[in-house]
This record gives sequence, C-alpha cells and structure tokens, in this order.
Amino acid sequence: MKLDDQVRWLRGVGPARADLLKKLGIELLGELLLHLPRAWLDRRTVVPVASAVPGETLTVAGTVLSLNRRRAAGGRVMVEAVLSDGAPIRLVFFSDRYPASRLEKGLQLVASGTVENYRGPAMVHPDLLFPPAGEEPEAPGMLPLYPLTAGLTQGMMRRIIALGLEELSSPSPLLPEEVMAKAGFPDRMALLRAAHRPEDPGEARRARDTLALEELCLYRWALRMVRARTDREPGVALTARPHTPGEFAAGLPWPLTEAQERAMGETLNDLSRPEPMRRLLQGDVGSGKTVVAAAACARCVLSGHTAVLMAPTEVLAVQHHRSLRGFLEYLGVRVRLLTGGTGAAARKALAGEMEQRPDCVLVGTHAVLEDWVPLSRLALLVVDEQHRFGVMQRERLTAGRAPRPHVLIMSATPIPRTLAMTLYGDLDLSVIDTMPPGRGRTVTRIIGEGGKRELAEFILERLSLGEQVFMVYPLKEVSDNTPTLDAETAFERIVRGPLGKWGAVLLHGGMPPGRKVEAVTAFATGKVGILVSTTVIEVGIDVPGATVMVISGAGRFGLSQLHQLRGRVGRGKGDSWCFLVHEEGDSPQAMARLNALAGTSDGFRVASKDLELRGPGQVLGTRQHGIPEFRVADLAGDTGLMKESENIPAPGDAELERLVREEAWRFGGLSFPGI
Ligand code: ADP
Ligand code: MG
Repeated sequence: MKLDDQVRWLRGVGPARADLLKKLGIELLGELLLHLPRAWLDRRTVVPVASAVPGETLTVAGTVLSLNRRRAAGGRVMVEAVLSDGAPIRLVFFSDRYPASRLEKGLQLVASGTVENYRGPAMVHPDLLFPPAGEEPEAPGMLPLYPLTAGLTQGMMRRIIALGLEELSSPSPLLPEEVMAKAGFPDRMALLRAAHRPEDPGEARRARDTLALEELCLYRWALRMVRARTDREPGVALTARPHTPGEFAAGLPWPLTEAQERAMGETLNDLSRPEPMRRLLQGDVGSGKTVVAAAACARCVLSGHTAVLMAPTEVLAVQHHRSLRGFLEYLGVRVRLLTGGTGAAARKALAGEMEQRPDCVLVGTHAVLEDWVPLSRLALLVVDEQHRFGVMQRERLTAGRAPRPHVLIMSATPIPRTLAMTLYGDLDLSVIDTMPPGRGRTVTRIIGEGGKRELAEFILERLSLGEQVFMVYPLKEVSDNTPTLDAETAFERIVRGPLGKWGAVLLHGGMPPGRKVEAVTAFATGKVGILVSTTVIEVGIDVPGATVMVISGAGRFGLSQLHQLRGRVGRGKGDSWCFLVHEEGDSPQAMARLNALAGTSDGFRVASKDLELRGPGQVLGTRQHGIPEFRVADLAGDTGLMKESENIPAPGDAELERLVREEAWRFGGLSFPGI
C-alpha cells in the first residue's frame, strides 16, 4: 500500500473502525502512520514490586494472587487484583471491560502504570500485557501510548499501526540521504518504524523530529515552487516617482522611522523590477504600515497604473481612503473608494472614470475585485490586515491577470521570523519593528467586578479632559448568569447613564455598512466621546484622541485579539489606559492570557505567547484560511527544526514536483496552485 491509500483497505480495519479512525483525522495510511504516540511506557526493564516507589511510572511482572470483582457505590463495577512477584501490589480497575475482564487468578502478566499508595502499593487502570500461555512474562521495550477516541483502545491502535507498517511499500525518499543518515535512519521505512517502535527514548525523539523536518521541508519546498512559477510570469516594472523613501517622506508631516524607511526602500526596490513583487509587511499595531503602502501606491499610479488597496471591513476601507488621500494629495494622486455601500450610480461613475483614467488608487473591501471594476491596468495589489491568508488565497487574488500585479500584504500579527519564513516562504519579508517616536505609554490593568465603579469614575475624568474612550463588549450576551453585557444592551445603559452626556455611538458587525461608517466618523472626528462596539474595531481604527480602552469579558478573547484592541489607544502623545475586565468564573488559562498581556506591550512577544498558549491553528487560522495543519511539526515549538529546514537543499525541479504531488495528502488535500 501507498501512503495516500485509504486505511479502510487495511486488513483488520472494517467500516466501524474506519469511522473511529476518521474521528482522529485518520483516513489515509500516511495519516495513520503519522499518528504518533503522545507518550511512551518505558517497559525496557521490569522493576521488583518491593522497590516500587509511589509517584513513579514503571513496569512490574508477576502472578495474580487474588481477584475481587464487586459493585462499588453508584453501581459501577470495581475490579481489584493482587499481583505478586514475591511482594504484592494491588491493580485497581473501575470497570469490568478489557483488560480487567481478562484477569484470572494464577495468570502471569506484566503491568505498567503509576504507583500509588492505596492501602499499600497500587496501580489504578494500569496497562496490562498478557504473555502467551505457558511463556514467562518478559518486559517489552518502549510501548507507545496513542491519542485515542472512545471505542478504540491502545491495543487496537497498536495493532492497526503495526499492520499499516507491514503493508506499506517503501515510500520515495524525501530528505537528503545525509540528513537521514545523521538522524540514524537508512530510509523512510525505518524512520516510520522507529517512530512507533523505537529502541529507546532517544530514538523515539529522533524519529519524531525527523518526521517533523520532512513535513517542514516539504511545505517550504512547495511554496518555493509556487514562487518560482510566479517569478517566471511577467510583471510590470514601475519606475516613476518616488524613487526613494526620502523623496516620499519630504511630503509627510513627520520623518519616517528607520524601520519604515527600510521597509519602504525594499518595497520600492521590488516595484522597479519586472518580476512581480510578493512581499509581506509585518509590523505591530500602530507601527505605521499604511504610509509604506501609500508610497508603493504613489509609485504605481505615477507610473500610469492602477493600485488597489483591499481592507477587510468597510470601516477600515473608509479610514484607509482618508489616510491615503492625506499622504498622496500633494502628489496629485487620485484616491477612490469602493465598498459594499457604494450605490449603483456611484459605481457606474467610478467605472467610467477608471476606463478613462486608470492611474488611480482604488481603496475598498472585497468589492474592488468584482468583475465590473476596470482593472486592466492593475499593477499593484495591497492587502491589509490579512494574516489569515494562505498561499491559495494569495494566488486567487492575482490568478489570470496578465501582467501579474505586484502584491504587498500587511499583517499586524508579528510572528517570529523563522515561523514567517516557514508559513510564508513564497513571500519576501519586511518588518517594521519599532514604533514612531513621541507616543505616550499605555498602562494595562486587569480589573474584576469590584473595580467597576472606580473605573466608571476614571472614565468620566478622562472624558472631562476631552479624551475619548473605546468600550468593547462581546457580541451577544453569553449567558444569563454572567455580569458581562452584550454591546447593544451596554450601549443603551451608557447613553442613559452618567457617561451619556459625553455622547456615545454603537458599532457592531450586524449594522448596515453606511451606519458603521457614520458611527466611526462621529467618533474619529470627536463628535462623541465614547465608541461602544464589538470586536469589529479590532483591526486598524486610528483615532489619536482616544486614550482609554475598556474590554469587558476580556477572558473570552485571544491574546493577539486583545493586543490588537489595546493598540487602538496609545496613539497620541499622552498616556493611555487599557482595562481588561474579567469575570469571576474566568478559567486559569484566561487569567494567564490577561496577565501575559498586562506584562508586555511588545507585539512579537504577545504573538509568541499566543502561539504557545493557543497553538498556531487558533492564532494564524487553519486550512480554511489556506494554512495547513501540520501533523507532526509544532509551529509554536519546533523553532530549531524550522531553522534547520532552511538549510536543507530541495531536490531538483522534476523530482520535487513529483514528490510534492505524491505527498500532497499531508496538507489535507490543500493543493498548491499550479501543481
Ligand atoms: P498600522 O501599522 O497599525 O497600520 P498606521 O499606519 O495606522 O499603523 O499608523 C498609526 C499612526 O501612526 C497613524 O496615525 C500614522 O499617521 C502615525 N504614524 C505613522 N508613521 C509615523 C511616523 N514615522 N511618525 C509619527 N507618526 C507616524
Ligand atoms: Mg493598519
């Protein structure tokens, strides 16, 4: 059998077991063989019962001296056996199912588990091994313990995997021979065997790491193939003004930071080349990414082409439209806006204008890529705040356009460089790693129910100083017995309460687009003091007069999300405050998140912590966003392996293409564009 054959064709796996395996995400033989043990029972040596110490996990062997089955309180069956090798140890089961059902007086067996003190030494639900009749029990080696689902036992899983290993015909080599040899495996067959039945813990670790390395290399190489293909498609060299960051900065109200200058230089440099740019611009919230995009748009438009800037929401599109106009007006660059809320007449006028004068920046939501929009002169596509974006989505945006436009992707989730190189290996990376100078501090405070009154007084005080306040609530009331209100109810109370006289607007995802823009504009222009919202404001809103961010039910939000919200304040010269309001019932994990956030303002540290706490799937988005679920590699922890994978040479083009096709199943059917 091959790695991408169905497991249900495997001997001993009928439809029922195939269904159970499917619950574990296992449908193919390869998926089965990459279902690695979560832990090991080290049964290389059998320990005399007399020397068993409570708290240790170990293996003993002996004969069943006595057996007692009885019904415990609550109707459950309790099975208790006394095993002896001279000294007795109690084996306790709270169920009469296998393996307890096989226990008999006089039987010789091997038991592995953690020793407890329960009227003398005992093991609760130990792993049992019954030697074939008449044979001495011997200690088997490293016994794998797999992640399971109800209906599957460790024994079944071990047997199915052993069968899978037997049936597998040698897979094609993947990693270079030297790498395999250094890890101590002659081929992939030996590697897979060692991953399930290693000689010792060291070999188990090496096998796991080597499989992770395979996975990381394969993904990296596939991305590189995609990149090589797009590089061969002709793009447009854009060579007009601004020629340098300095030239562009001359028209700005402030000097660029060094990091902005570097990123802008890299971007402008790419644009002057005929190969289409594919660049990721990473920078923490508030680091000033927009101005870099503006310079790129200026270059594109002054070269006679269309630039498109796509934002994830209407509110952000409107804001970008405003900022870009500010940055570009003095150059005579026209900036137009198109969103879901743009009426039919305005659309027609826009289309007409763009036919005549394609040299403009078009800012908008996804609507900018609709068929009726005249984009025959499109040469630059800027995508904002779309870190949840895999290689396929990126390809879809530009597919079929000739010449191929330059692409700049802006992300405010600053993930560690090594991880970025793994996930976005088809992109070049620019990082803005410092903040514009002259910003005040943002103080982060965690407060509970008891602190609410004081908080309200504090808010009143800031409002009376002419400052503005964000108040974020969950979209819906989560349950009747939590004190956290939903945004709408909270808004009504605020308007009627003492804060009401400062004026408040409500913003949530369900509102019609036009009303959202109205609300944000009222707040951004200082007409009202308070913006009550759901997390729609998470990304991008830029209101320098706002100094207080209050997040209710903060325990429910992810770390990166909270950091994004906090980034909405601290944009002016004075100090700002972020209040994380938590609930009594918040879990320790939620509190850990809040504490982590209060402890740092560095977006890179927040992103790393978030990856560690929630895992990359949650933070970066998973397959639906085009980012694969790695089966073995851990994107939060395998930094060393990711670095190593950078230096492992890919096989030649033809060989690689075959390999990527053969191993495509690993990425859950995620197909790579053009492969
Ligand atoms: P983000 O990276 O989060 O998109 P923005 O581009 O919205 O950040 O910039 C945040 C704020 O900082 C804006 O008000 C912008 O005008 C301002 N800004 C950007 N660069 C600088 C700079 N070099 N000096 C001072 N202010 C800057
Ligand atoms: Mg932004």
